[in-house]
Order: sequence, then structure tokens, then C-alpha cells
Amino acid sequence: MKNVLVTGGSRGIGKAIVYKFAQNEYNVILNYNTSETAAIEIANAFPNVTMCKADVSNREEVSEMFSFIKNKFGHIDILINNAGVSSTGLFQDVTLEEWNRLMGVNLNGVFNCTQEALPEMIARKSGKIINISSVWGMVGASNEVAYSTSKAAVIGMTKALAKEVGPSNICVNCIAPGIIMTDMVSDYTLEEFDEITSQIPLGKIGSTTDIASLALFLASNDANYITGQVISPNGGWVI
Ligand code: NAP
Repeated sequence: MKNVLVTGGSRGIGKAIVYKFAQNEYNVILNYNTSETAAIEIANAFPNVTMCKADVSNREEVSEMFSFIKNKFGHIDILINNAGVSSTGLFQDVTLEEWNRLMGVNLNGVFNCTQEALPEMIARKSGKIINISSVWGMVGASNEVAYSTSKAAVIGMTKALAKEVGPSNICVNCIAPGIIMTDMVSDYTLEEFDEITSQIPLGKIGSTTDIASLALFLASNDANYITGQVISPNGGWVI
């Protein structure tokens, strides 16, 4: 059984990824930060899901999480950097505190978890890292400059790291979802959803399962020759 760590596995896309991998006979470590009740509920549903609390922006907590994983499972085969936060507002109004909060989770979180996971992967000459970015990291969003910046940085990190660790047989890829129905987009109005949907060739908002299915494929041996790629399930919204 392969071990997969899913950050931000308590809600939304991460939760769907946890379900997908648990149902496909992976041993899943579900990382969460604040949603303990939700994490317990998921872990109780599967014998092969273990929960582990850590704020991914906090290096000490991430190191403790990796020590826990090492003691309990030995190593991880697949790291899925999914935990993320967003905020909207004019660039001019973004405080340094808010900027740092977004970079802390969306970018430093990926750095922290990836740096902790890599030594073991390099030693074993095997591993897969899947980073969850966003279409906004590809094309940028007005009113979401900080979020777009953090997600674009994750794309850059994915490409550069894929080159660096490819010789160690480690694949690093990025999923850049379009709009997906989760808590993250819960403050969009119905009119905003209608407006966005009208711009999507497939005519619908994406589901968390759309992203989880792609993550499962990228983690599988069928995707062993894919690295450094940004794959964007977005219904044709961004082509
Ligand atoms: P969500 O429903 O708001 O869930 C966010 C998840 O991230 C939660 O499980 C949360 O855990 C976790 N998280 C947040 N801060 C954390 C921290 N400091 N440490 C550990 N975990 C933390 O969001 P989502 O829509 O599923 O988003 C998941 C990923 O997809 C994010 O990276 C997001 O940027 C990306 N994405 C989403 C969309 C979309 O339309 N929804 C589109 C493109 C990309 P707790 O609740 O336990 O704190």
C-alpha cells in the first residue's frame, strides 16, 4: 500500500482527494489545521485514513507532522500540496499581514512540506509531488493579486523542482483547477456563478471529484513519464 499525504484534506478539494485515494487502496495521511470535527468524520469512514494536525505555514508543526509519519509509516510515496487560502480585494488595499498570510500557506506551505518530504524520496529514488495551483496562477485575476501571485509561484516551483529532482526519479506536477464548488468560492453570488458559467465552454462549474480523479491519475504508474507539467481542469475556461 502506498502512503500519500494530502494537506488540507479536511474540506473541499482535499477532502475529495482523501476519499478518492482511500477508496483506491492508498494509505492516506489527512492533514488538517482547524477543521478537526470534519477530519475525524473522514478518518472514521476509512480504516486506511490517519489524520494529522499541522499548520502548513508553520515549519515546526510541519516537521512534527513528518516525524509522526516517519514513525508510523516509514515514508511517504506521494505528497499532495493542496492546503490553500484565498482573499479578494484591490491590490492597493492588501495589507502586508494579509499578503504574508496568503504566501505563508499557499507558497511557504508547499515549500515546507516538499522540503520535509524530499530527502526520503531522493534516498528511495522514487516519489511524486502534486501541487494544487489555480487558473489564476496561470492567467492572473483582478482583485486577487496576492492569491494569483502565490499560485503562479507554485507553478514556477513545480517546473524548476521537476528539473532538479527528475534524475532522482521524482515527478513533480501541478494541477491548476478552474472554478470548483467548495467553501473557498462560497461568497460568490448566484449572478457571479451564472456569469462565470456562461464563459465556460463545458457550461458548468467543476466538482471536487474532477480534481481528485486527476490527482489519482498523476499519482499512478500510468503517469510515470509526466513531470513538470501544469494540467488545468477548467471546463475550457482557460485554454
Ligand atoms: P477550502 O474548501 O477552503 O479548503 C481549504 C483546505 O485547506 C481546508 O481543508 C483547510 O483545512 C486547509 N488549510 C487552510 N489553511 C491551512 C493551513 N495553514 N494548514 C493546513 N491546512 C490548511 O478550499 P478548496 O477550494 O478545497 O481549495 C483547495 C486548494 O485548491 C487550494 O490550494 C486552492 O487554492 C485550490 N483551488 C481552489 C479552487 C476553487 O475554485 N475552489 C480553484 C483553484 C484552486 P482546515 O479547514 O482544517 O483549516
